[in-house]
Amino acid sequence: MGIREWLRPDIASPETSAWQALSGVAEALVVCAGAVLDIDDEQQLLQHYCDQLTELVPSLRLAWIWFGDPDTRMIVPQVRAGAARAYAEHLCIPRTRLTERGPAYRALQGQRSEPYRISATSLFGPWREMARQHAMQEVLVLPLQSSVDAQRGVLALYADVPGYFERIGLPLFEAMAGLFSSALSRAARHKALENAVMVDALTGLKNRHAVPVLQRQLLRADDDAAPAALLLLDIDHFKSINDVHGHAVGDQVLGAIGQTLRLHVRSGDLVLRWGGEEFLLGLPGASADAAWAVAESLRQQVAAVRHVQADGQLFNVTVSIGVASLLPAESLDQAVQRADGALYAAKRGGRNRSVLA
Ligand code: GH3
Ligand code: MG
Ligand code: MG
Repeated sequence: MGIREWLRPDIASPETSAWQALSGVAEALVVCAGAVLDIDDEQQLLQHYCDQLTELVPSLRLAWIWFGDPDTRMIVPQVRAGAARAYAEHLCIPRTRLTERGPAYRALQGQRSEPYRISATSLFGPWREMARQHAMQEVLVLPLQSSVDAQRGVLALYADVPGYFERIGLPLFEAMAGLFSSALSRAARHKALENAVMVDALTGLKNRHAVPVLQRQLLRADDDAAPAALLLLDIDHFKSINDVHGHAVGDQVLGAIGQTLRLHVRSGDLVLRWGGEEFLLGLPGASADAAWAVAESLRQQVAAVRHVQADGQLFNVTVSIGVASLLPAESLDQAVQRADGALYAAKRGGRNRSVLA
């Protein structure tokens, strides 16, 4: 029996021919498999997948994806594509006794679900009318699962013909969800690797490799012309701490100062171990005055910490700080250079002080 004979006439119509659909899904599978190598960011990758799928497969009106913690109380599409994507912009599915029996939460629990006819099920309640306005007749929700971390997800596909998914063949769409899942796993592996590279083993702080993170954090504040500032902090006479107390005590001092800085900045601020005995702090939203006040407060916090030398004696350590407020259109490198200049001035001025660039 040829494929056209077991297809219903509405599906075999020229616009929605099964061959078009099958070759569209196959093409999307190939294109998406290739993109895994080019795109590292999981959200971008999944967006690309959904774009390809809705573009290449006729009758697919909408594809959306949510991914995250499997215990989530709310599913809100993070990725949306297709002619009817406006529908998904207003979609949020709270976890209730009713919705837990619906396709999205069942998929989140890893259950393979059958396609739902939108006209026939009452579970869709408030969304049913809107779905029909967008000419969507059937939805298939497939589970996504990362094999690397605990992330789970759901892929929802909407077709404009009833019976569409079964006629085309659920295994094809499941293969597509499998590919999406490997993309999630790969993105998680990439993130884990990136995190490992970015973390300094001695202090547990992020290191110089995390500059892009710092840049993102400071730029976000830049969006609404909000100020941002950098603090470059250097331990005073650290070489003699090593010489007098030994390298192991020097390491402890570095760890303790890193800890003090981390404890005393706001949650949106970022502390990096910039190198040797230098730390770089990014303060999104801080004006020059506010940043200088933060620098002075941190300097005093650090000076108050009592460190223990090998024979049990206590000693204090001071730091000098260069403060630079980010100028409009200035690169992070340029701002760091100005902070470095201010730090040099603080050292020349006698150490244990903050200087504003
Ligand atoms: P200044 O007040 O001018 O900053 O003087 P300083 O002695 O702090 O500066 P200098 O740059 O001369 O010395 C920095 C020292 O930091 C030299 C280096 O051996 C030491 N250092 C760098 N990284 C580490 C580390 O991971 N552990 C330890 N214990 N020492 C380190
Ligand atoms: Mg130094
Ligand atoms: Mg130093």
